[in-house]
Amino acid sequence: MWRATVLTLFPEMFPGPLGVSLAGRALAGGLWGLEARDIRDSATDRHRSVDDTPAGGGPGMVLRADVLAAAIDAATPTPDQPRLVMSPRGRPLTQARVADLARGPGPLIVCGRFEGIDQRVIDARALEEVSIGDYVLSGGEIAAMALIDACVRLLPGVMGKLDSSTEESFSAGLLEYPQYTRPQLFEGRAIPEILTSGDHGKVAAWRQAEAEALTQALRPDLWAATTAKKAPAKGESR
Ligand code: SAM
Repeated sequence: MWRATVLTLFPEMFPGPLGVSLAGRALAGGLWGLEARDIRDSATDRHRSVDDTPAGGGPGMVLRADVLAAAIDAATPTPDQPRLVMSPRGRPLTQARVADLARGPGPLIVCGRFEGIDQRVIDARALEEVSIGDYVLSGGEIAAMALIDACVRLLPGVMGKLDSSTEESFSAGLLEYPQYTRPQLFEGRAIPEILTSGDHGKVAAWRQAEAEALTQALRPDLWAATTAKKAPAKGESR
């Protein structure tokens, strides 16, 4: 079973939003597992300290390497288990990486706090730094939840209809086409006629064109990457 192990100073934050709706039902149904472990349990002094002042000075506190390394070791990650640390300076999370993580055994995820984590434990335990965007959260827990949620919805049996994940944003390097439902008329705006025509071929072509136009307009970076991937290399014939 796919299982996420989260190392955090706030295990009470879990499952939190992961315990409701799609992910929550799947968790209750045993389709995936979650363990939130308290980093503080690996502290060794009587104050259960986990942090200290930054070497070289500066504001805030830093999570200690020895305490965090002990917490990671106590979680006994398997050799094939990805070891991640949520970090704003990490590689931005993508749907491709999410799909890759969903295919594996489930990651061990370290949630940082304070000013961050002593670099030596990141190096010594070969932690992969993962970011959920170019902004700074106060801790890694919400970032870890975002990553877990994105993985869980791809696990077998979690989503009712397989197509939901193969057709949505990023699956083909495009944003998703616009969606509509009843009522047919909303504040003078009608559902595009083609969607109610019953012609599946025309609907598919319209959706593809809309997805391409939206991607060009809203995410020119994604559009450039997608079209570059599709273009034949120089000297290569189609
Ligand atoms: N001083 C750090 C810096 O400037 O990069 C920020 C530390 S932040 C206040 C505390 C923790 O929140 C980080 O160690 C990380 O685990 C988590 N975090 C903050 N922003 C994040 C992001 N965009 N993606 C993933 N994790 C993030």
